[in-house]
Amino acid sequence: MKSQDIRNTFLDFFKNKEHLIVPSAPMVVKNDPTLMFVNSGMAPFKEYFLGNSEPKKNRIADSQKCLRVSGKHNDLEEVGYDTYHHTLFEMLGNWSFGDYFKKEAIAWAWELLTDVYDIKKDMLYVTVFEGSDDKDNLEMDTEAYDIWKQYIAEDRILKGNKADNFWEMGDQGPCGPCSEIHVDIRSDEEKAKVDGKTLVNMDHPQVVEIWNLVFMQYNRKASGDLEVLPNKHIDTGMGFERLCTVLQGVQSNYDTDVFTPIIREIETITNSTYEDPETSDEKIDIAIRVISDHVRAVAFSIADGQLPSNTGAGYVIRRILRRAIRYGFTFLNQKEPFIYRLVDILSKKMGKAFPELKAQKQLIENVIKEEETSFLRTLEQGLILLDGIIKQAKDDTISGEKAFELYDTYGFPIDLTALILSEKDLKLDYKGFEEHLQIQKNRSRKASEMSTDDWTVLVDDSEQEFVGYDTLEVNVKITRYRKVTSKKDGEMFQLVFNLTPFYAEGGGQVGDKGYLQDTHGDVIYIVDTKKENNVIIHFAKNLPKHLNETFKAVVDEKQRYRTECNHTATHLLHQALREVLGDHVEQKGSAVHSKYLRFDFSHFSKLTLEELRDVENFVNARIEGKLPLQENRSVPMEQALQEGAMALFGEKYGDAVRTIRFGQSIELCGGTHVNNTSDIWHFKIRSEGAVAAGIRRIEAITNDAVKDFYFENNRAYFEMRDLLNNAQEPVKALQNLQAENSDLKKQIEQLLKDKAKNLKGDLKNEITEINAVQFLAKKVDLDAGGIKDLCFEIGSQYDNLFLLFGAENNGKAILSCYISKELVAAKDLNAGTIVRELGKHIQGGGGGQPFFATAGGKNPAGIAIALEAAKSYIE
Ligand code: ATP
Ligand code: MG
Repeated sequence: MKSQDIRNTFLDFFKNKEHLIVPSAPMVVKNDPTLMFVNSGMAPFKEYFLGNSEPKKNRIADSQKCLRVSGKHNDLEEVGYDTYHHTLFEMLGNWSFGDYFKKEAIAWAWELLTDVYDIKKDMLYVTVFEGSDDKDNLEMDTEAYDIWKQYIAEDRILKGNKADNFWEMGDQGPCGPCSEIHVDIRSDEEKAKVDGKTLVNMDHPQVVEIWNLVFMQYNRKASGDLEVLPNKHIDTGMGFERLCTVLQGVQSNYDTDVFTPIIREIETITNSTYEDPETSDEKIDIAIRVISDHVRAVAFSIADGQLPSNTGAGYVIRRILRRAIRYGFTFLNQKEPFIYRLVDILSKKMGKAFPELKAQKQLIENVIKEEETSFLRTLEQGLILLDGIIKQAKDDTISGEKAFELYDTYGFPIDLTALILSEKDLKLDYKGFEEHLQIQKNRSRKASEMSTDDWTVLVDDSEQEFVGYDTLEVNVKITRYRKVTSKKDGEMFQLVFNLTPFYAEGGGQVGDKGYLQDTHGDVIYIVDTKKENNVIIHFAKNLPKHLNETFKAVVDEKQRYRTECNHTATHLLHQALREVLGDHVEQKGSAVHSKYLRFDFSHFSKLTLEELRDVENFVNARIEGKLPLQENRSVPMEQALQEGAMALFGEKYGDAVRTIRFGQSIELCGGTHVNNTSDIWHFKIRSEGAVAAGIRRIEAITNDAVKDFYFENNRAYFEMRDLLNNAQEPVKALQNLQAENSDLKKQIEQLLKDKAKNLKGDLKNEITEINAVQFLAKKVDLDAGGIKDLCFEIGSQYDNLFLLFGAENNGKAILSCYISKELVAAKDLNAGTIVRELGKHIQGGGGGQPFFATAGGKNPAGIAIALEAAKSYIE
């Protein structure tokens, strides 16, 4: 069966069991501080398990893109070395939200595998949770055991411990016991030799887990305690690529049609052979597996809007790509970018199931190519440096400091350095690395780690209403609150209300600020508003005194209004760019603040001044056109798209969406807007530049900010004209001034050279002989550098010279002493000691080498005394 059909068969099966089939959610998580990437099929549904919102249907099935490269689930080290762990993989899943439970979940899994996919029953093993006697003190899952007994021989039901049979998404959140289904794909011969049962969960490449049925019944709290969930849920996850291995009768995920087209392409491009029976070079095979895996992860992330960068999720993507680049460089001898050339075949093969890949192929290629080019530039040098470090190492551990240097100057992600070291059986001092990283982090920005307390619930009501489209002031009750502590912000409180006028950061728009006031007049400031798993959270520095009262919640009107001007302008800018530059322009990110707006979009060249002017004019024409806001809070998605609204890749949309229209501009948008474009007053682009290959960024301002901008520019202009004696043509006057200035500079340089030359001649005449030493002590009008040059120039013509020069620079004194090397040796003199001694006269200190040293001090009046003292010293 082809992989396409395997995926469809799964979805059809559950559709027939009355499940709603939904598309994969974007892989990059936006609204959850505990998770960077979707790492399992259930992550996008977390809000349903937590009871924060209602699912569309209580039975859902899908194929979800997952990435396991950071946090609790990190398989990066395995990838390429084994045949069944990937960074990015698809997880086929079926869900019950408070609907069916273990009985149906087990029955259907069994039916699908053995009836529909026709996997032989004697290839399968299942596991059930055996219970735990740790602090959770959980009982064995006999319920699951008894159900399994009806389908499979009891000697194929194995009991498993907490690590294998109790599933947790992260340190906090929904969790529960699980039953895993394992498949033994060994030959009959092998099976006869070793009982498959003994290989389950033993990391055997041919006895692997394919499906995990999780029986969600607890929530793990921040305190570490478990609480029983009000409703029981089913969460299952089946590794799609592993299932393909089983159904296509091969021994490795890389031999399925999910990977073979990519591998063939790598072979062609790099002129290498995967699993070449003649050379059987394991390193080449690993490299090819790694690259075929990593290109998928990177391409899907970029398609979801996550570009490689230096922080957060972007850095994770950069790390994965750099790992792939280095494998190609070292083992496939690829010194030029090549990974981007695999995107074509990938989008051809997967574009049908994941249209975002196809639509953004060109962008993905550009971004990967640029990353490759820039990393290859430093990779070679870095590898040489690392080689040197390895050779110099005294034992088998490489210091964290060196690893940090590689990271800092050559962009070597730490796991890449660790990997190269492990290939050579060497170790890495991770702790040392972390320490250096921390020092740097502390220097550049405050650490962002935070600890979050459990919620204190005041009103047991999960409903929360957002009323901020219609009003900026409303009476609210606090339903729950918790404390968060971070290095950056110190102690903060997060408050949730029953209803709120505060807009939570989202869709690029910043969160509202404002305040809460109770009936006693006490005020608490709300400094920010964010959304987390679909709950609107208000941030405050303090906790209100009377928590259970009714509060007047008031949004900062001015900041909201300015932000709205910028948000509406962002829509008009988007429209303008597509009009002026063409339909290829797609939004790639935006930030709408009260003071300015930022808009990233795909386009391949710098905008000309004319294009920028046209864009500005287009937007301003719509502002002058006084277009009214046409808001529709609930339009079927299909209809909105038909009307011309564009969905953004990497965003999650519901069936019904909100549309915002100003004239011909129509967008899917949850943000807040002005009532009429004329409110914006004026739009002005402040800057335009590149953010990545094929992605440009415009920063612009509106309203008050434009007024300030013009005012400041005007002020600078008039001040400049004033300084230029009211020149009629200030630019020309400035150019003249610049020309004159550079002429003068040249003249000064020449004069200084002449002066030094003369000085040298004059000084030589002043040298006298004292006790067979050529001696001169004198005050000169030079800076420290000039004195040094002079000393060495004169010095080169003598072999028994003693010089002491003093000078006064900007009210400070310097003394420099030069002694011929021969003299230093013959008379055991030391310029360093001498200047230190003489430095006392100028109230300072200094030092240097025996033949040249300098002291600085704050008493220029002492220079003459020092010079005299030198003379007496030689005499
Ligand atoms: P394993 O022990 O093999 O790493 P797991 O216990 O981490 O698996 P789950 O978290 O239960 O796996 O995920 C559900 C299913 O997803 C697994 O049964 C497996 O088929 C698949 N899966 C998990 N991790 C990966 C991965 N890195 N690459 C491909 N498939 C995976
Ligand atoms: Mg795992």
